[in-house]
Amino acid sequence: MSFSQVLKHCSQALFYPQACVLCQAWVSNPDLSPLCRHCFLALEPLERRICFYCGTPLPGDLLQIQGICSQCRSCGTAFDFARAYGCYRGKLGSVIRKFKFSGHQRLGHPLAELQATCYKNSGLDLEPDWIVPVPLHAQRKRERGFDQTLILSRALSRRLEIPVFRGLSRIQPTAPQSGLNLQERQRNVRDAFRLSQADRLSQRTVLLVDDVMTTGTTISEICQLLRKESTIHRIVVLTVARVQLYLHQ
Ligand SMILES: [Zn+2]
Ligand SMILES: [Zn+2]
Repeated sequence: MSFSQVLKHCSQALFYPQACVLCQAWVSNPDLSPLCRHCFLALEPLERRICFYCGTPLPGDLLQIQGICSQCRSCGTAFDFARAYGCYRGKLGSVIRKFKFSGHQRLGHPLAELQATCYKNSGLDLEPDWIVPVPLHAQRKRERGFDQTLILSRALSRRLEIPVFRGLSRIQPTAPQSGLNLQERQRNVRDAFRLSQADRLSQRTVLLVDDVMTTGTTISEICQLLRKESTIHRIVVLTVARVQLYLHQ
């Protein structure tokens, strides 16, 4: 670290002192603030072998079937690939909730760092042309005060040097998906999105970015729209975390 960087970090720490959101220790690295380096390094990646397509962790007894989960073998997915850094639980789940619901917008930086690491280590050398954030409706953004997926996307854009595409918007203020069954989730997001500047996605590969992937219903709705209204080439879903739903299939 250069002297000027040390000076910058010291002055930031002096003027914007932060306690770590997980352990309350003093945060000395402003790049990760308000998360300390110890807690950042403790955020666990997915360790099990994952499905080649959807990225879901595979039970050990399925490893011999070419590393593809039962869902992808039977009906495929609306996207080409999906990857997540870790599981939505433990410390990672806690940091994401503090990012989304406690107003700690700066946590978008360390979380985007995890996404960048996840993509670089994925082996998917697809040279994406665009980062496409899963959009928040304007009303929800007003309530929350910020758009967490846009923050992640911009931070990821700087790390991967891929521009952010802003032509996807949410035109219906859909209710939160949590607590709904699959049919209700599908109904909830049907026709909720609109695509403009579709020609800019023509023959392109995109990283569709969200914070957490649960059942993938919202993601599927967006993928169908992108494929219907543009001649998009490939869609790679990249989230910070995923909820493990198919572990026992
Ligand atoms: Zn900490
Ligand atoms: Zn799969």
